[in-house]
Amino acid sequence: MGYGYSGRILYVDLTTKEFWTKELAVDYVRPVIGGAGLGIRILMDEVNPKVDPLSPENKLIFAVGPLTGSAVPCTSRMAVVSKSPLTGAVGMSLSGGYFPAELKFAGYDALVISGRAEEPVYIWINDDRVVIGDASGLWGLTTTDTQIILKEKIGQLDAKVACIGPAGERLVRYACIINERRAAGRKGLGAVMGSKNLKAIAVKGTRKVAVANEERFKQALKRVHELMKESPVLYPSFSKMGTPMVVEVTAELGILAAKNWTATGIFAPVETLGGEAQTRYTITRMGCYNCPVRCGQVKVVKSGPFAGFMTEGPEFESTYSLGTMVGVNYFPAVIAADRLCDEYGLDTISTGACIAFAMELVERGLLSVDEVDGLDLRFGNYDALIKMIRKIAYREGFGDILAEGVKRASEIIGRGSERYALHVKGLELPAYDVRGAKAHGLNYATAYTGADHNRGYAIQEIFNVPVPYKVDRLAIEGKGRLCKWNQDVRTAVCDCMPLCAFPFDMALAANALEIVAELYSALTGLEMTPEEVQKAGERVVNIARMFNYKAGFTRADDVLPARLMEEGVPGGASKGQMITREDLDKMLDEYYEARGWDKGKGIPTKEKMIELGLPIEWLS
Ligand code: SF4
Repeated sequence: MGYGYSGRILYVDLTTKEFWTKELAVDYVRPVIGGAGLGIRILMDEVNPKVDPLSPENKLIFAVGPLTGSAVPCTSRMAVVSKSPLTGAVGMSLSGGYFPAELKFAGYDALVISGRAEEPVYIWINDDRVVIGDASGLWGLTTTDTQIILKEKIGQLDAKVACIGPAGERLVRYACIINERRAAGRKGLGAVMGSKNLKAIAVKGTRKVAVANEERFKQALKRVHELMKESPVLYPSFSKMGTPMVVEVTAELGILAAKNWTATGIFAPVETLGGEAQTRYTITRMGCYNCPVRCGQVKVVKSGPFAGFMTEGPEFESTYSLGTMVGVNYFPAVIAADRLCDEYGLDTISTGACIAFAMELVERGLLSVDEVDGLDLRFGNYDALIKMIRKIAYREGFGDILAEGVKRASEIIGRGSERYALHVKGLELPAYDVRGAKAHGLNYATAYTGADHNRGYAIQEIFNVPVPYKVDRLAIEGKGRLCKWNQDVRTAVCDCMPLCAFPFDMALAANALEIVAELYSALTGLEMTPEEVQKAGERVVNIARMFNYKAGFTRADDVLPARLMEEGVPGGASKGQMITREDLDKMLDEYYEARGWDKGKGIPTKEKMIELGLPIEWLS
């Protein structure tokens, strides 16, 4: 493959310290495009779905896409894929920054890591040269320090580094992988890296992404820039505020979840945590490689108890998890909590959700102050929040229990605490209280990664975007088909090509399939229609579904926490809304039907497997 793709996968076995490359065949990658599709296909082909996620047999896959490193803006994205130690299902998390483009420049479409080193190591990839080095001096460092010291150690200050912090080293089940200030945040992929004794990966490349048809590619690229400029939101608002602008949107809709989902619509402190309010702390903006939007907002606390804390963020989701979810409206504390999570290498969403779960248990008298290490762990107490974040990262005291995630923590604690452990398939809930956005709720229930806002984000319900058609966010009918459309299209465009979800949502959604089909065809010289792009997304969702089925997941796992099905939203514009068991079943039936899945087992029928060109032996 001469164009778009690098045409090579780099394999590293940390047990034997061997590495080798494998040619990436067109007929292997084209049906799944690349990125998440390539990573999930490799996972399905090379990892036993029953494997212990923290064993040497699990693989950790970093996969970029055909657009990565090209002139298309907002495409320095990579999918990190593995079997998740938090959910036991497919773990897939996307990250931006500069590392993904650099991996492509080094000449690889994917990096596949297996085995376990006896002592801590790093991997240094410099084009064709690969070194597995001693990382004992780096072990214990936070993520920023790891990146600085490793670059010094290898003598390449402009190398890009992805690494874990103390949380990944201690196998916290929702530890993340940090590159620059970006995170492959969710599903515990940092713990998989830690289980392999792999502290960091440094990469530097000198290749360029070759284009098959320059003139055609230039025209398609021009169209992308035009649409991005025409968006009334992307540059005027999103560049200025970043994702926190969604605080205002969700607060108005009454779907900004708060206090472990007991105060949605009641506790929504827009005046201190809203996107506009957060700009008072912004000192500059940052962006990923080749991104004119630069949505990363660098914020600093200049006075008070958290003076000196700086973070790129907090993103909207972290404003929820470390703010409204834990009942904190003091923004400097949210900045500090966000920075600490990044430095320790913790997923901010799961961290805040785990602490909010414990706060509710304390307030209900199900946990005593002694059991939570003497902390006054109640909603709104940001001192306790900050202390508990460290305890989780280092697995100290009660933090050791919360480091397991809410599902396992509730099983350890017992006393009926399962009711307050909010998760789907073990993944803690993101910010959108989906009782007031039903297709988004169905996506939480069915996404192959668990409760994941990114897989099938319902832009129609949250931003009123009429693509592919206008919807009523509170209606149940039609949401099965809509959820399928969102998951398939987003998987293909944002996860596999991959193109950042923000320009997709705010500028390109209406034309995304046509645009990426044209970009892909011009770049790679392999013709692909918009229908084929969408079909590729569907194929990837089905491969992931089959991996999960073989790992033991069934229709019974496509469920929402009891609170969402039995308790109405307490206040605000979505007051009283819930997704009852009956509502969910109705949406699931429609969703399975639209997907061509067996309604009992929740897996593809033989006909669907044949239609997608997937092996029917997987069904046996
Ligand atoms: S919009 Fe933001 S997240 Fe997306 S590529 Fe640009 S800087 Fe990165």
